[in-house]
Amino acid sequence: MLDRRKFIRNTSIVVAGSLLPLSTLYTNSNQKKIGVCLVGLGNYSTAVLAPALKLTKHCKLTGIVTGSPWKIPIWQERYQIPDKNVYNYQTMNRIANNPDIDVVYIVVPTGLHAKYAIEAANTGKHVWCEKPMAKTVAECQSIITACKKNKVQLTIGYRMQHEPNTRTVIAWGTSKPFGKIKTVKAEIGYNVSNPERSWRLNSELGGGTMYDLGVYALNAARYTTAEEPISVSAQQMTTRPEIFSETDETTHFTLEFPSGAMAYGKTSVGKSMHRLYADCEKGWYTLQPFSMYSGVQGKTSDGKLLNQYIENQQAKQMDDDALSILNNTPIIVPGEEGMKDIRIVEAIYKSAKTDGSLIKL
Ligand code: NAD
Repeated sequence: MLDRRKFIRNTSIVVAGSLLPLSTLYTNSNQKKIGVCLVGLGNYSTAVLAPALKLTKHCKLTGIVTGSPWKIPIWQERYQIPDKNVYNYQTMNRIANNPDIDVVYIVVPTGLHAKYAIEAANTGKHVWCEKPMAKTVAECQSIITACKKNKVQLTIGYRMQHEPNTRTVIAWGTSKPFGKIKTVKAEIGYNVSNPERSWRLNSELGGGTMYDLGVYALNAARYTTAEEPISVSAQQMTTRPEIFSETDETTHFTLEFPSGAMAYGKTSVGKSMHRLYADCEKGWYTLQPFSMYSGVQGKTSDGKLLNQYIENQQAKQMDDDALSILNNTPIIVPGEEGMKDIRIVEAIYKSAKTDGSLIKL
């Protein structure tokens, strides 16, 4: 049996030029598992990520960071998390000394992503950060800089880019089986009849449709065309100003791409819509829904179905990201990808504030 020091030495890998120890967790078959610490135990962590971690092959939930002491016994019992792996926002810097934790996963309100992602990077652990990456390009850049400085990986939680039918659409952006892409329509919205009074209505904490939902449409427009837009214009509107006093209820945006392709994006918390559509010179294809947790499916103008099944998107995302740490292979959604969207989101808000003026990117 390996002693602990030998095991750490044996399981160290070279990542971004540095030697990083992996946690000593492994399955009966001696397969290493990436130890994940969730920061923020809100809805997404509780209802989605933690259960998905149980379905992963290459990850294990080993730590939590929470500001709500009442949640601690519930999480400890549910996921067998020892006292030494429980932190609050003031003590999370001590994760640096915890060999059970390889990755710190930031799942707090968007306006706090940069603060805690930088703190996570400074522990020397890899950083997974939920979408949208942050509120501003400056914040995104500061996260990237902190991760580079600490020689740790940075991954953004764009789960769609791990989903198999979406990956087909991403590949078609380059292979163009239906010829040149002329128009993309990307629409995501929910009819939220009674929006909760949460950080999502607070612009300081990262509220606003483009941040919460619109980045799915924007990211889809970029991965469908496999191009970066050269200009953008946008309009924002609300039918319920008494609720949406700080943030918008609906955003429409138009992107122009170097090839001449145009993308029309819509996002709303007042209307349900979940469609991605690409109109090409020799046909079309669509995913509907294109962004839900399950059931992503589509079809093409020549009658093909896009219907590959996946058990759990988030488990696939986290396994893909764990494998890129374990094997030192390219990350599917690196920080730079998250920052590209935020650069456009900033331009969208600027255009919307100036009556839909055209913003060159
Ligand atoms: P939530 O409000 O349910 O949870 C947020 C957590 O952050 C809570 O535990 C809260 O206590 C904690 N927190 C720490 N400091 C806080 C502060 N100052 N103010 C408010 N809360 C604070 O939100 P959520 O739905 O879990 O979203 C969290 C993150 O996950 C967001 O970045 C969101 O965009 C992302 N998310 C991603 C997906 C996806 O499909 N990838 C889905 C939902 C949410």
